[in-house]
Amino acid sequence: MSDHRLSKNFTRNEFLRTSYGQFQSDNIKEGMELVGTLTQLAAGIMQRIRDKWGPITITSGYRCKGLNDAVGSNDRSQHLRGEACDFVMRNVPMNDPEKKQEFFDWLKAEYDCGTIAFNQCLEERACIHIALPTGSNDGRIGAWAKGKVTKRKKKNV
Ligand SMILES: [Zn+2]
Repeated sequence: MSDHRLSKNFTRNEFLRTSYGQFQSDNIKEGMELVGTLTQLAAGIMQRIRDKWGPITITSGYRCKGLNDAVGSNDRSQHLRGEACDFVMRNVPMNDPEKKQEFFDWLKAEYDCGTIAFNQCLEERACIHIALPTGSNDGRIGAWAKGKVTKRKKKNV
């Protein structure tokens, strides 16, 4: 499968691949149409995080409807529009509260000075979710102030 570089360290397929094999081809086919959005996500957010914190694995990026349903998410998810991704960082283990706090504090500072714009950043059970600050409000902005780093127990946002 051909690939396409979105930023220095991220390629399109990293945001399209899924462990749910039955949705892989649909996800790639549909996701190809969203390269512009995925580039904003990769270059505007993920590359900046990568430059500061080191290697990142995207665990879930774009999700076609079937995949999004399969992971138990809902129709308002920004994953459906290629505007969100979930990721883990090699140097910021999810089981290291101090390191995570250091990361979130840094991200909040980046947001506050306008270096990294994002809609929401949520700690999930096994990864971190982050999304582009798009105008397509998913209806949950009121509960989660823009740019505010919050924690939420529900998975698969
Ligand atoms: Zn997510």
